[in-house]
Amino acid sequence: MTRTALLLSAAFFLVPCAFARGGETVAVVFSGAALDPIPSYKAGGELYLDAKRIGEIYGGQVYSYPVSGRIQLTLRGRVMQFLIDTKKATAGDESFDLVSPAIARASKVFLPVSFLSSEAFERWSGFDARFDQGTKTLQVERRATAGPVRAFSYKGRTRLTLELGSGLTYQTVARGVGAMEIVVPFGVVEGDDQVDVDDGVVSAYAVKQAPRSVRVTVHFTKTGQRWKAVELADPRRLVIDVYGPGIVPGADAVEEVPAASPPAAKVAVDLATTSAAPRRRVIVVDAGHGGRDPGATGTRGTKEKDITLVAALELARVLRERGDFKVVLTRESDVFVPLSDRSKTANDLSADLFVSLHCNAAGNHRETGFEVYSVSERASDPEAEALAASENAALELEGKKPEEEDAKLILLAMTKTEMVNESAPFAAFVEREIGKRIGVPDRGQKQAGFYVLRGTHAPAILVEMAFISHAKDEAQLGSRRFRRRLAEGVAAGVAEYARKKGWLE
Ligand SMILES: [Zn+2]
Repeated sequence: MTRTALLLSAAFFLVPCAFARGGETVAVVFSGAALDPIPSYKAGGELYLDAKRIGEIYGGQVYSYPVSGRIQLTLRGRVMQFLIDTKKATAGDESFDLVSPAIARASKVFLPVSFLSSEAFERWSGFDARFDQGTKTLQVERRATAGPVRAFSYKGRTRLTLELGSGLTYQTVARGVGAMEIVVPFGVVEGDDQVDVDDGVVSAYAVKQAPRSVRVTVHFTKTGQRWKAVELADPRRLVIDVYGPGIVPGADAVEEVPAASPPAAKVAVDLATTSAAPRRRVIVVDAGHGGRDPGATGTRGTKEKDITLVAALELARVLRERGDFKVVLTRESDVFVPLSDRSKTANDLSADLFVSLHCNAAGNHRETGFEVYSVSERASDPEAEALAASENAALELEGKKPEEEDAKLILLAMTKTEMVNESAPFAAFVEREIGKRIGVPDRGQKQAGFYVLRGTHAPAILVEMAFISHAKDEAQLGSRRFRRRLAEGVAAGVAEYARKKGWLE
């Protein structure tokens, strides 16, 4: 037994008896950042969390009054009252029903998770909370009423969209000759953002949460550029079109706004009536693993297959919002899909681009960051080769021999050298755009013989979003905000590649 193990077992026996049933801690991830674990207590099928810590995490305070049995939660100047062992809470004139009551144990007060994650409490607090039973993690994110801001680059024009909750007002103002600003009084955003767009029209945009408003500043590439703002519904959003130097917005500028998810029939009509219209390019988005193949598992138990699915759904959403691609997912639920079926989906649709999403894992828990892989016969380094081997391991679950499949695919790859050559520049665009948007380190663009990429007759890349085996990366992967920014990066890379190929003329 090692020294550490001895110390740990000694510490175990020192745990107070009152926590014999509770005692466990719950991991907390706040807007993608891992915080100190929080003491918990289990009783009657309910999980309880230390109320004082909840107060701190939410940026408020909790006071408890042992004599009267009252617990008071103060948040942004408002107060909610609980009574020990009572299934009611009150805030001003409002009263809330709890499934389980607040409790006191060993001179600590606890609040039930079922209440923290209830719609009523989320609305009152302004924070969304979700408890993951599998990973024993409480995910807390600020409930935004404005945003996200998304940027879409088109030829000579950049469109920024800002979702707005009902009841919010806004102002759009010029900031000198080189920028414009949107101000949303009383708006709340998920968090501050700063993105370098650098598409020749918009150089960057910044989202800032001020105490009583949200400010979005859009910086132009050149001075004197024109812009137009319009409000659209379903979802309610403000659309700002910024025009490249010398371009004057046409009267039809607003009509081209694509529906969030264009109906298939509409697409068919567009193609039929406009003879010169280009084919709508097909992007296949592949959520790695699924079903009986969980992929890698994080230190807190996060499964790669769950992260890749939510990330793929988000990427599909962002790409569809652009309005100029047809987007197909290889899976939309927790099902097992053989690797060859994934490439077959792409090939049957004559896909133009293929993007596979994965999470990296390493025995060394210090490894962190994202990587973008393009297909190749030779791996760029031994780590890349080992990674491809582990991602190809799903073949064994399909009852196939990886080596035999490998030989078949090398022949196939040689017949489509062009696709292999095109994958590297595609990967480079995606890598650069992700790097602009997320905080985890950029480990660069690499090559390896991923089976799922080799079988696809289109430029194909595989994105290892972050290390699920690294505590901070794992927390990021669990954050909606991180996945949103990553998806926006991939989508911007896809659009940039498509623009360079002349697909979006
Ligand atoms: Zn994977």
